[in-house]
Order: sequence, then C-alpha cells, then structure tokens
Amino acid sequence: MARKSPAVPLTADPAVGARLPYLAGYPGTLLHQVQTLIDTGRLGGHLHQRYPTHHVVQTDRALYDYTQELKDRFLRSSPPLSKVTYDAKLHIIRNALGTHTAISRIQGGKLKAKREIRVAQVFRQAPPEFLKMIVVHELAHLREKAHDKAFYALCTHMEPEYHQYEFDLRLWLTWRESDTASSGPDSALVSRETASREEP
Ligand SMILES: [Zn+2]
Repeated sequence: MARKSPAVPLTADPAVGARLPYLAGYPGTLLHQVQTLIDTGRLGGHLHQRYPTHHVVQTDRALYDYTQELKDRFLRSSPPLSKVTYDAKLHIIRNALGTHTAISRIQGGKLKAKREIRVAQVFRQAPPEFLKMIVVHELAHLREKAHDKAFYALCTHMEPEYHQYEFDLRLWLTWRESDTASSGPDSALVSRETASREEP
C-alpha cells in the first residue's frame, strides 16, 4: 500500500478514523483501504509479506550498540548517549513511540548533559525496519526538538524509507491490537512522548 494518497479530496470518515487511532491524520481514502484489509482478515498477511524478518537486537546492551552505531554514522558531533534501553513501562501514542530525555546537570562547575533514549518494549518483537525507524526518530531529536521539516529531513537522511516505515509501523500496531489472538496484557497501548526535560 502506498503511503501517499492519490490526489483526491480527503474524504475522512470520522467513524473509520476513530477505529484506527494509530493512523489518525492520514487521509480517509487510505484509512478505508486499511479498514478493508482488517475486515477481510488480510492485514496480518499484508504486513508479513512486506516485513517477514525479525531482528536480533534483544537486549538493552545490543540496543545501545545498535543506536550508537547509527549515531556514529550520522550524528557524530551530537552529545554522547548515556543510556539507551527498552522500556516495558513505556506506552505508545500516536506521535510518540519512544522517548528522548536531555538532562543537564552542573557538575564541578561544568554543564553536563545526559542523553537517554527509551524505546517501547513492543519494538523487541517488531520487524527490523520499525526498530530502525524509532531509533532514527529518537536520534533525530538529539538535534531537532520539534516534529518539523528539519526534523523529518534528518530522519529521511538517516533512513530514506522513514515515512513508509512509520506508516507501516502504525499499521502493524493497529494489526496487533485488532488481532485478539496475539494481544497480551500489554496490548492496551496508550500514548505518551516525554519532551526533553531539564533538571537542575
Ligand atoms: Zn518525536
């Protein structure tokens, strides 16, 4: 399914939008296609065909190394990462799938910045493309705070398929919740993205 909708007027159906919270903001034509895939039981197969593999980044240590490697490649001059972890308590919302925290402390008269990235636990089981997308997203926040043009330019610089992966990630989250067989207690995902936070 193409990420971009055809150039037709938006025919957003609020009823469809309400059933697809992860896809809010996408054109109604696209949401109808998604709803059809769900109704006909084809969404899981559609996703599996496009994203058949798993990744081996299963521990916090592996996630740190994975993130650091991407940072070395694209954001060498940004402040070092003090911590990168999977977070089981982190819940997912529409626009926030991970968190980044910048903590500044005065230590010995010097300003020390600690940069932490937390990735929702659900990404452990996600296809590798989606893990890359969320790590790229949080890394981009090291440089750009807002979700603006410069931010997304940096995301697509690090991963040219960024927008497609983000859309498909939202499809995947939608599918996980629509498929009762595979949903566990964690499937009641709510949403939250902490903004950068400053502590004295
Ligand atoms: Zn963000």
